[in-house]
Amino acid sequence: MSTSEEGDALPGEFALIARHFRPLAAHAPGALALSDDAALLDPPPGRTLVLAADAMVAGVHFLPDDPPETIGRKLLRVNLSDLAAMGAEPLGYLMTTALSKDTGDPWLAAFAAGLAEDQARFGCYLLGGDTVSTTGPVTLSLTIIGSVPKGAALKRSGARAGDALWVSGTIGDGALGLLALTGRLDELGGEGRAHLASRYRLPEPRLALGAALGGLATACMDVSDGLVQDVGHLARGAGLAATIEAAAVPLSPPAAEAVAADPTRLATCLTGGDDYELVFAAPEAAADAVRAAAARAGVPVARIGAFGPGSGVTVTGADGAPLRLGRGGWSHVA
Ligand SMILES: [Mg+2]
Repeated sequence: MSTSEEGDALPGEFALIARHFRPLAAHAPGALALSDDAALLDPPPGRTLVLAADAMVAGVHFLPDDPPETIGRKLLRVNLSDLAAMGAEPLGYLMTTALSKDTGDPWLAAFAAGLAEDQARFGCYLLGGDTVSTTGPVTLSLTIIGSVPKGAALKRSGARAGDALWVSGTIGDGALGLLALTGRLDELGGEGRAHLASRYRLPEPRLALGAALGGLATACMDVSDGLVQDVGHLARGAGLAATIEAAAVPLSPPAAEAVAADPTRLATCLTGGDDYELVFAAPEAAADAVRAAAARAGVPVARIGAFGPGSGVTVTGADGAPLRLGRGGWSHVA
């Protein structure tokens, strides 16, 4: 990992960074102990490299007082989620950190410890990157590198009319978790708030499910910007319309409790983002195969709608009639 020559980091900070980041590269021979100008990586035979980058800014993508362990883990996990969306497996990553002068040794140690834990869990290593100092908020950028069998990458654009729309896990926990962490969900019990907060801080990249959907899903992406908006990307990519049955969207027990207490929160769940679940299309005839693949991957999936001719995304109520998103949340179209 280089530290920029023209940067304003102090020599002592270089040593600090080397101390915390070099161990993250220890098991990646191509990282050359972060001491060379660049890293080396051989694509596995018969596979295509898959690359994605995601950045996080303090105060925008994470709370400045979030535990540094979970900040590091979330940075890696949101990138792993992009690999999952393509059906890819991780190999390694490059990371650039812009740290403020008062980012101390304990913060860096905890940040790196979080990365080390999730590297071991998901099987990837730090390959290189850069470290600079900033007078602005802490900014972290990670470029993940993975691989997928040649020709097997899942894409956003392949849905066909008549395909079913599926989603993994539960939707809305991340957005409600942010509310819980900022004191806007206080009527919920402590246990429920803790579950939602943990889903906000530590999304679960669905790598096993993404890999299992190869040959089954006709289109796939991860939900980062909100379910409705991201389903819109799948619909637009296919030149089709999509319908989401609101009642079929899976909610965790604390999310269901929060929505029951205030129905406007359904809109928060469906549009809030930070879910990092997979949303995908598959032919209706493949429904049993999808369920079997999900069971093998150990990830629950739910059929939440379908694709048809037209354009745009329609959210429907329990009676099948379209709902409209207004100031009071979702309501029947007048
Ligand atoms: Mg994505």
